Formats: sequence, structure tokens, C-alpha cells
Amino acid sequence: MAFLAEHDPEVGAAVQAEYDRQRRNIELIASENFVNQAVLAAAATVLTNKYAEGYPGKRYYGGCQYVDVVEDIARKRACQLFGAEHANVQPHCGANANYAVYQALCELGDTVLGMDLANGGHLTHGSPVNFSGKHYNIVPYGVNDQGYIDYDQVRDLAKKHKPKMILAGASAYPRTIDFKTFADIAHEVGAYLFVDMAHIAGLVAVGLHPNPVPYADVVTTTTHKTLRGPRGGMILCKEAVAKKIDSAIFPGSQGGPLEHIIAAKAVAFGDALKPEFKAYQQQILNNAAALAKALMAEGFDLVSGGTDNHMMLVDLRPAKLTGKEMEKRLDEVNITVNKNAIPSDPEKPFVTSGIRVGTPAATTRGFKEEDMQAIARIMWQTATDFEGKQDDLRAQVAQLTTKYPLYE
Ligand code: PLP
Repeated sequence: MAFLAEHDPEVGAAVQAEYDRQRRNIELIASENFVNQAVLAAAATVLTNKYAEGYPGKRYYGGCQYVDVVEDIARKRACQLFGAEHANVQPHCGANANYAVYQALCELGDTVLGMDLANGGHLTHGSPVNFSGKHYNIVPYGVNDQGYIDYDQVRDLAKKHKPKMILAGASAYPRTIDFKTFADIAHEVGAYLFVDMAHIAGLVAVGLHPNPVPYADVVTTTTHKTLRGPRGGMILCKEAVAKKIDSAIFPGSQGGPLEHIIAAKAVAFGDALKPEFKAYQQQILNNAAALAKALMAEGFDLVSGGTDNHMMLVDLRPAKLTGKEMEKRLDEVNITVNKNAIPSDPEKPFVTSGIRVGTPAATTRGFKEEDMQAIARIMWQTATDFEGKQDDLRAQVAQLTTKYPLYE
């Protein structure tokens, strides 16, 4: 970083400030994590210089013999990690991976069942402002009054609308997803099953969440959430659709792959195959369970009354606060979260009645169950007794972050 600051003080200063922010704050954004030094190092290699349109062994550029080795390692490790028949590690991000799946399996205008954004789905699962909602006939499904996916509703909608594809997966759903039931419903109506496991991929990799790969035609994920790799996407699929998927990425929707990021993905997958990664994922779950319990003990409500995975949705109405205000207050005391709609949220999407909270990043730092109780106390105080207490709250946060230094 010193070299960067010397070469370009303007960019260097902004990067340094972000580094300092990451070390100073407690990171509770459920979709974020901290990669290790080896992943960082791989992402910052000369592989960024290389054009490699195509796939290993079949490129449109010369000089690809070494990036072929890297991409093959990434594909092989991805298949091993999830028990998949085929992997495409080129998607630049999760949204690109999802775009390619629609392109590979559907025609424009086809009917697709996807989880409603307001109920926890992702933009790419059919939001009207996204390509998915603009180009396909989306039939949304949601959660029941208890906050669980309503599988009866999914089945009824599938029977009624006969979708070409059913999309399972979420950005803000704190409960285990029953992929077998989704597969049964897809088979009953002759639809493809597409699972987006972006949030839970790390848990799936070590067997702490059911694996969708045996059930789904195609599975996508981001590589930077619980999986703790570089920012990026990936597609896993059956051999039967592999050709369609590969050509939907290149040449269908992307150009040259980011081989430096693919190298970083390979390193992260290698780490995820080690026994320590299972212990890490178990600690994510232990911390999430502890945080959920402590938040409820303080007085917050949680959508669905708790969590089975790495995240929870906090309903702020008992604290008489909006998600927007809570996000801002927490930022002031150096805790980072994102505002998030809760099911049937009366507030606008930019305001919301909730926040989404997750433990993957804090767990990477070393936080344990007892620290979750401290975090819950700080959050409740931030919600209910904030004015004039900011310095004290920041000091409580600093006590925790100095206990677990980052990138030392
Ligand atoms: N799918 C799910 C379930 C997500 O939660 C996200 C991002 O948060 C994405 C896809 C999109 O990933 P990206 O931001 O890398 O495009």
C-alpha cells in the first residue's frame, strides 16, 4: 500500500482510508467478508495483463498456457468442493452468473418463478428494475406470516403458471432452504431448477447447509460472501447443460475473463477444502445463533424469530426506528450493517423497517459468542439511548476491534 500511495497519492489515500475503516469497524454486512493475504496476493498478480477469451485449451488468444493451468485448478477445486459435474469460474460477479443462466435456459418472455425482492430475493430473481423482471415473465413467491418460504404457495404458483424455470435462493432469508422440495415442485411441472446459493455457499461447501447441486440443473454463487474468496461469481451445473452455460458466459455475455481473480478464486477454493474451513463455518453459525439470541434478549424482534444460517433480519419497529436511521447511527459508532426491507414492510425500500445482520466477516476476525452479546448490547443502546452516547459506544466498539486486529 505504501508503494501505491507513493505512486498515486490520491488513490493511495482513499485505499488507505478504506483499509483503516475495515480495521476500525465491526463488519456485520451479511454479504461481506475479509479474504486472506494469499487471496489478496493472487488478485494482485500479473494475470491481470492477460487476455484469454474462451476456455482452457480453446482460447482466442495465444500465450494462454499458464492461465489455462490456473483456470483448470479453479474449475477442478470448485467441482470437488460442491460435488458438481461442471464449473464455470469466469462470471465477473453474481449478477453476471445469473444473467447467463437465464440466457442459457430460457427464451425472452418465458415464465420464471423467483423469490420476491421484498421477501428476501435478489434483484436478479425478477425485480422489475432488473433485466430479469424486464425480459422475463416473473411470477414472485414469498414467505408466510412466520417468515418462512411458503412451499405450498410455490407449488400452487408452479402448477398454475407452468414456469420454464424455478429460481430458489435469497439475499435476505435467515432459514434453511429446502432444495429437495423445490426440485420436487420443478419436476412436477417440468421446469428447470436454478439455485442461487450466493449467501450460503461457504456453509454448503462444508455440509452445514443442504447442498443444492444434486437437485438443481444449475447453481450459481458469488465467491466473496461466506465462501471468503475474491469478489466474483461462479456457475455449477450438470454436464447436460454445460455447453449452454459456458457459451452464455462467453461469448454470450462477457468478454475476456479476469484471470487474476480466477487465480484468487482457486486459492480460496483450495482453502475451503481444508478442515479449518469447516471450523470457520461452524463458528459463523455459532456466532449467528448467539447474536440472534442476544438481540432478542435486548428487545429486538427478528423475522422468523431467529436464524438457521449466517444472517438475521432485525425488525426495528419495537425500537421505533427505521432501517435507514439505524444504519446511519450504527455507522456513526463504527458498526456497519445495511438497511433491509422486512416482509410486508410498510416503509419505502430506501427507508425500510429493518436491518440485515450477518456474522461471516466478524467471525473471520476472530469474534466469538461472548462478543456477540457485547455487540447486541451496543446495538440496543444505539437504537434506544443514542444521543450524547456516541463516544461511549465507539469506545465499546474499539475494545472489540482491538481484541481482534485485522490484517496484522
Ligand atoms: N445473488 C444473491 C443471492 C445475492 O445476494 C447477490 C448479491 O448480494 C447476488 C446474486 C449478486 O452478486 P454481485 O453483487 O456479485 O453481482
